[in-house]
Amino acid sequence: MTDVIDGNALADQVFDGVSDAVDEFEAEGVTPGLATVIMGEDPASQTYVNMKQRDCEKAGVNGVHVEVDGDASQDDLLDTVADLNDRDDVHGILVQTPLPDHVDEREVMNAIDPIKDADGFHPENVGRLVAGEARFKPCTPHGVQRMLAHADVDTEGKDVVIVGRSNIVGKPLANLLMQKADDGNATVTVCHSRTTDLEAKTKAADVVVAAAGLPEFVTGDMLSEGAVVIDVGINRVDADTEKGYELVGDVDFESASEKASVISPVPGGVGPMTRAMLLYNTIKATRLQTGVDATLP
Ligand code: NAD
Repeated sequence: MTDVIDGNALADQVFDGVSDAVDEFEAEGVTPGLATVIMGEDPASQTYVNMKQRDCEKAGVNGVHVEVDGDASQDDLLDTVADLNDRDDVHGILVQTPLPDHVDEREVMNAIDPIKDADGFHPENVGRLVAGEARFKPCTPHGVQRMLAHADVDTEGKDVVIVGRSNIVGKPLANLLMQKADDGNATVTVCHSRTTDLEAKTKAADVVVAAAGLPEFVTGDMLSEGAVVIDVGINRVDADTEKGYELVGDVDFESASEKASVISPVPGGVGPMTRAMLLYNTIKATRLQTGVDATLP
């Protein structure tokens, strides 16, 4: 029997914990606040930010949304970030990517106050993570780590193959899973577009995490019997639906689930957990900034 991880149900548990933490803050006169900043009109980004704001509302977090014109200058965006850094009612800041071509993404991430860095992409927070002293774990890798724990997958001594080396998924996840820690202690191989014989590597792995942005790329014949498979991918493919597309993962669910002992679906897997962990980071940021010792979800 293949165990299909229900990312929605697990995310709901985290959201409930966030609501409880919000109550604890409210009792001390504090409302946790998360600012989302979007620049330009990218439809997928608009959808993501809207969902994040709805999550805030649901959990009682003060959602502050700022839209910056796609034609505005980089300095305008940096001014927006500086204003949010200064606001006492904003504890977490997220700047939605991708940003327009004329804006240097790195400079913008570097401008976020590291104590308000809800995505965990500021170099100070990246450095802490690598050193094993994570302050804000990036949301997607943290969500994956939670899903593995929930499915009783003990990563200690396991061979984990991550397909994808991005700064937001592959690299931080590799760092988390290799840490000397209860939810780490794995032997991690990070594969990417220049990797030779990917199939030999995935076939030898106990755990495969697919984060390459390639629809249904990881198939059952690339897996060992009983492998644990986590699908991070979210790909829009043309389909005969009302919207004209459907969302599929990086894993071919049908063939992979014939081999896997545990698998995460798309949609309803890593996506909702990523959103939940954003609110987790907002709660953590509020604790750090106010000194109120609310329970972490
Ligand atoms: P990215 O484009 O930044 O990185 C893709 C990685 O895949 C690169 O490191 C590249 O080297 C690697 N790659 C490309 N082709 C490959 C191949 N043939 N073999 C092996 N590796 C290959 O992507 P990203 O931002 O890390 O996102 C990856 C996927 O995850 C996308 O589908 C994205 O939409 C999705 N995503 C989902 C969530 C979520 O919340 N579920 C969050 C972030 C990203």
